[in-house]
Amino acid sequence: MNKTIVLTGAGGVLCSTLAMAFAKQGNKVAVLDLRKDAADKVADEINKAGGQAIGVAANVLEKDSLLAAKKVINDAFGKVDILVNGAGGNHPLGTTSNPYLEAADLANKTEGFKTFFDLDVNGIQFTFNLNFIGTLLPTQVFATDMVGREGCNILNISSMNAFTPLTKIPAYSGAKAAVSNFTQWLAVHFSKVGIRVNALAPGFFLTDQNRSLLTNADGSLTQRGQQIIDQTPMGRYGKAEDLVGTTLFLCGDGAKFVTGVVIPIDGGFAAYSGV
Ligand code: NAD
Repeated sequence: MNKTIVLTGAGGVLCSTLAMAFAKQGNKVAVLDLRKDAADKVADEINKAGGQAIGVAANVLEKDSLLAAKKVINDAFGKVDILVNGAGGNHPLGTTSNPYLEAADLANKTEGFKTFFDLDVNGIQFTFNLNFIGTLLPTQVFATDMVGREGCNILNISSMNAFTPLTKIPAYSGAKAAVSNFTQWLAVHFSKVGIRVNALAPGFFLTDQNRSLLTNADGSLTQRGQQIIDQTPMGRYGKAEDLVGTTLFLCGDGAKFVTGVVIPIDGGFAAYSGV
């Protein structure tokens, strides 16, 4: 492709795999993350394998930090052609302890047990900011390079939660619904200046963020982990590599008339009613 591609959150599990896949196709890749060491590690791996990458530290919630990152990227690789908004995640303070509220939960409250009424606005705000503002701000900064140029596009990372919320995580579900909605809004807004905007909605991938919710210490699945497998017709968790084909398609010329779509990559989870 020979494009300059910025991926936020690319020190993490899913977007580091996407960064490596873009590099293998001959693109120049900026691995952007809050954790500079993680970004550098991914960039080093790409460069050792013969690709072209730089690790860049930036906070997707601070415009000045993104502007400074853009300067480094422009100096190294020229104008940005493609942005993948991968930084995102949940916060425990925006998560309930149980899927359902029972009257007894209020009567016999134990230390640390969180119902809907105990959700902390800071946890909710953290999650909304990271996923939604953390998609909007990098777009404001990097898409200025794309206006009026051929082959430029943006890929956001939504989630299964955006279609139907998962129990326990109202903030993350709402924030990812906002990312899907914004993907459509931006696709329309940018349609006259040649920038396509699409999103992936990954299903369930075992990563550091959710491993303790989905697996026990001995590696077996928790009840929630098993429920997910039972609800996934293909009967397994996703692997980061499962995102690569759709990513290269959406970001490449084969999708040049595709904009405003959110594609589930979920082993059939979203299609299955459970019966
Ligand atoms: P991850 O935690 O491995 O990676 C996220 C990365 O974002 C981390 O490297 C982290 O340092 C970085 N980050 C966090 N805050 C940042 C900030 N303010 N500025 C810059 N970087 C920041 O997570 P992952 O599993 O690779 O998830 C990647 C994306 O995919 C996220 O948006 C996540 O919500 C989404 N997603 C994940 C799953 C899953 O099952 N893992 C499913 C659906 C969607």
